Amino acid sequence: MPSVDRESGAAGAIQPIIVADRICKDFGSLTVLRGVSLEAANHDVISIIGASGSGKSTFLRCLNLLEMPTSGEISIQGEKLDLRPGPEGLVSHDKAQVRRIRSSLGMVFQGFNLWSHMTVLENVMAAPVHVQGKSKAEAREKAEHYLQRVGLYEKRDAYPAFMSGGQQQRAAIARALAMEPAAVLFDEPTSALDPELVGEVLKVIRGLAEEGRTMIVVTHEMAFARDVSSKVLFLHKGEVEEAGPPQEVLRQPRSERLRAFLTRAA
Ligand code: ADP
Ligand code: MG
Repeated sequence: MPSVDRESGAAGAIQPIIVADRICKDFGSLTVLRGVSLEAANHDVISIIGASGSGKSTFLRCLNLLEMPTSGEISIQGEKLDLRPGPEGLVSHDKAQVRRIRSSLGMVFQGFNLWSHMTVLENVMAAPVHVQGKSKAEAREKAEHYLQRVGLYEKRDAYPAFMSGGQQQRAAIARALAMEPAAVLFDEPTSALDPELVGEVLKVIRGLAEEGRTMIVVTHEMAFARDVSSKVLFLHKGEVEEAGPPQEVLRQPRSERLRAFLTRAA
């Protein structure tokens, strides 16, 4: 039987949400990514693990062009990014495409990055109004929906400074979701949190995985990577050292380096 696309019902290949092909990144003379490839299908949850400095954040930032790759190709929802060689790496001449790509990939950072002069509700409404041109009424309805989803509806009029780190990170997740992105990229979403606040944030991210959201999660939480991911990618010095389903990569690692990393992480 041919596979059937859940969205279109059409038989045949399912369009991947994100395809990154041989991404390289240099910062001056420092080579940080050496040909990293990844493919995220619809509903995939891909965990990226690896030591500090292995290039995890740089790779995520290259996917939404917060950082321009030095070379490589990226397609988002079947649209190949128009990246052309420039003096210091690839350059995009298509501003509209860059805007479109950025709003189709939500991003959640380690440090929350909420605007401190805005309430939580205003934070979540801002991009839909100012980037996507939604009416305030529509943006508010959507923001309230996603704040409800992360358990923060009661806190909607609070300012970030008066909320715990876990609440701020959940607000940042609601803000990413309010753009209705095709995929959400998380860069160590729980690393800046006090240990007792990690659980509430992971619970929200697990819930999103259960809903079938496409996500790429850079994480040090091995239990999360094991239980939630469809694929795990281990980066070592800017290269994919090992990749595959969590039961293989995390339970039966082939690479000596990955074994050593997992022993340290345990
Ligand atoms: P990870 O997220 O795995 O800890 P990063 O992607 O943050 O790794 O960093 C990988 C390497 O790239 C590090 O050596 C870091 O110092 C370097 N790096 C990251 N961003 C920059 C930058 N903007 N300029 C120069 N070097 C950078
Ligand atoms: Mg990082």
